Amino acid sequence: MNRDRLLSQLTSHSGPFDIAIIGGGATGLGAAVDAASRGHSVVLIEQSDFAKGTSSRSTKLVHGGVRYLKQGNVSLVLEALRERGLLCKNAPHLVHSLPFVIPSYHWWEGPFYGIGLKVYDTLAGQLGLEPSRYLSREDMIELLPTLETEGLDGGVVYHDGQFDDARLAIHLARTAVNHGAITLNHTRCCGLMKEKGHIIGVKAECMETGRQHEIRARCVINATGVFVDDLRRMDDAKAENIVAPSQGVHLVLPREFLPGDSAIMIPKTDDGRVLFAVPWHGRVIIGTTDTPVQHTSLEPRPLPDEIEFLMTHAARYLTRDPRPCDVLSMFAGLRPLVAAKAGSTAELSRDHTILVADSGLITITGGKWTTYRRMAEDVIDHAEMIGGIGVKHCVTHNLMIHGSATVLAKDDPLAVYGSDAAEIRDLAAKEPEWSGKVHPKLDLTCAEVIFHTRHELARTVGDVLARRSRSLLLDAQASMSAAPRVGALMAAELGWDAKTTAHQVERYQHLACGYILEG
Ligand SMILES: Cc1cc2nc3c(=O)[nH]c(=O)nc-3n(C[C@H](O)[C@H](O)[C@H](O)COP(=O)(O)OP(=O)(O)OC[C@H]3O[C@@H](n4cnc5c(N)ncnc54)[C@H](O)[C@@H]3O)c2cc1C
Repeated sequence: MNRDRLLSQLTSHSGPFDIAIIGGGATGLGAAVDAASRGHSVVLIEQSDFAKGTSSRSTKLVHGGVRYLKQGNVSLVLEALRERGLLCKNAPHLVHSLPFVIPSYHWWEGPFYGIGLKVYDTLAGQLGLEPSRYLSREDMIELLPTLETEGLDGGVVYHDGQFDDARLAIHLARTAVNHGAITLNHTRCCGLMKEKGHIIGVKAECMETGRQHEIRARCVINATGVFVDDLRRMDDAKAENIVAPSQGVHLVLPREFLPGDSAIMIPKTDDGRVLFAVPWHGRVIIGTTDTPVQHTSLEPRPLPDEIEFLMTHAARYLTRDPRPCDVLSMFAGLRPLVAAKAGSTAELSRDHTILVADSGLITITGGKWTTYRRMAEDVIDHAEMIGGIGVKHCVTHNLMIHGSATVLAKDDPLAVYGSDAAEIRDLAAKEPEWSGKVHPKLDLTCAEVIFHTRHELARTVGDVLARRSRSLLLDAQASMSAAPRVGALMAAELGWDAKTTAHQVERYQHLACGYILEG
């Protein structure tokens, strides 16, 4: 992917695009892949970076949603389990199976959760991962040596998928481009073009140059997550909110807090929440919370109560109590929950919602990362009808995601790149100084930074440190120290002058401060 090439494709395109998509998170990128692979002409614009919003701030699970079973929502679980299976098959370099252990501290919990998980196994059918099984107290201690053992009776282990959310987003963007789509990050939708009350395109502004583009399209999709209502009001100033955002926070701890390859799942904390402690990229993620919030932001901040809840519960289930100085990073994301009363035109489709305005603007929100492919299929089916662009078959059931041709060992530091790892190794071989790490506490090498900038549309220091690599989440402090080195490497690739480079580094360091828990 190369920005200049994509921009020149945009400006030289004659006639309207079939579909314009606003928002480059899981939903928008999934829709771009679906539409482009059906053969439609597609342009996607993202105001910041791909996955800058909620899609880089998830718990990183590809899951059926065990908890929905308890609510009796079998069809939702069935669909998510099917999507989990498809994603494991189509992106094997990015998704893998992970054991989740539910500890039981009361005699009845083992059979209670065990039976539910057998149903979960059965629903997954042929696309299932490994079957769940009961564990004795001794098995539990062997599997999770740092689990609190006081009162421990035994447990149950089941399997779900785990992934790197922002990495999958980048690979979806590349898949879409491979199929002819134009995907532009740092390009904001600042208005909608209308003719006789009908949407005929979007006004876009390049956030780097300020240049404006008028992009004509037969159909426009609003896939802006928690921001969908702002876009809906660009279309109709009187549109009421449909999204009620809910914040979820995670803390990242060193691996010593949970060594081994299994995650812990607590189905019900004493205030009724689900809590996970999950090994990820050599660290442990603890989360999450569920706090209704009034305001939307691309950089939501963890609240003191949320941090306190996670610290207290981590201490309850782990032998070592984490202290603020142990927290390597903390991050918050906003769930785009659709308010119950979304208006009579709302079509409640499973756990995502599609709304079609009188102007023809299609809004899609809700759902989860796991079901992004199904959501995309659904919204492009709508777009074909509304835009009158011809009905074509969805082909994403079997569409391999960019990079999937090579699956490296899970512990290979370049595993997430799949077949692109070879190119990164070539860069390091050609330019020996690029084989070095950008910081001793991070796995990120200079060669990766060059690759992100040349081929993955990284345009800011944050694009590299927060999403192309996950340095910000893995060690916020180390990522701040690495910022000048990353800035210098990017400057040489992108032609930044000293002032721009200094500004980039400063801006990143300011942002990263918000991920550090002050002791
Ligand atoms: C705490 C938490 C944990 C989660 N864990 C999981 C999990 O483990 N597994 C799972 O399957 N799901 C999980 N989810 C759900 C999942 O992350 C979300 O459903 C999904 O990421 C939403 O993607 P989206 O594309 O709809 O929204 P977003 O990722 O927020 O994307 C919307 C994009 O639109 C852009 N945008 C907004 N306005 C404009 C504009 N004017 N012009 C251009 N672009 C614009 C934004 O910059 C943003 O990047 C979790 C969610 C949260 C909050």
